[in-house]
Amino acid sequence: MHTAESELLVRAYVGIGSNLDDPCAQVLRAIAELDEIPGSCCVRTSSLYRSRPMGPADQPDFVNAVAALDTTLPVLRLFEHLQALELRHGRVRGGQPWGPRTLDLDLLTYGDIRVADDTLTVPHPGVLQRDFVLHPLYEIAPDLCLPGHGSIADYLATCAGHGLERLRSPA
Ligand code: AMP
Repeated sequence: MHTAESELLVRAYVGIGSNLDDPCAQVLRAIAELDEIPGSCCVRTSSLYRSRPMGPADQPDFVNAVAALDTTLPVLRLFEHLQALELRHGRVRGGQPWGPRTLDLDLLTYGDIRVADDTLTVPHPGVLQRDFVLHPLYEIAPDLCLPGHGSIADYLATCAGHGLERLRSPA
């Protein structure tokens, strides 16, 4: 872990996805880079999963994973680092909604806090509906409760995991 901004350590979960330019390599590189975010340490990573695209069907399958980060960064600073990391992977913003992407990083949760403003919603609104988030998240945090929602295990029971394929164990 590098420079700390405060002493308070918060556990955050980050959803990772890619379907362009060697998606497995993009996801593995992103996991290594998350660990290099100042004041942050990647403490667990899920297996890699292959998922069918949620938006337009005429695009490659996605590779997804979830990482657990312990961080001293305030939530907005962490989010800025995630967005900068996406750009470093050649992410083009303003493209087709749900379209192909080199790297997508979603801040799934940040401790027990809830955020709802113009640019950031935490917990991420898609966590409980998306099998490619819920399954890897459950793999590394089966007891997790989402602020305002409750146990992810309860949601997993209703989330089928259609088309989701586990590719490899955590790095
Ligand atoms: P995406 O196309 O998935 O990268 O998301 C587009 C926008 O979602 C971003 O520009 C963010 O401002 C917004 N957003 C809101 N809440 C979150 C979150 N928890 N994690 C990531 N992006 C978020």
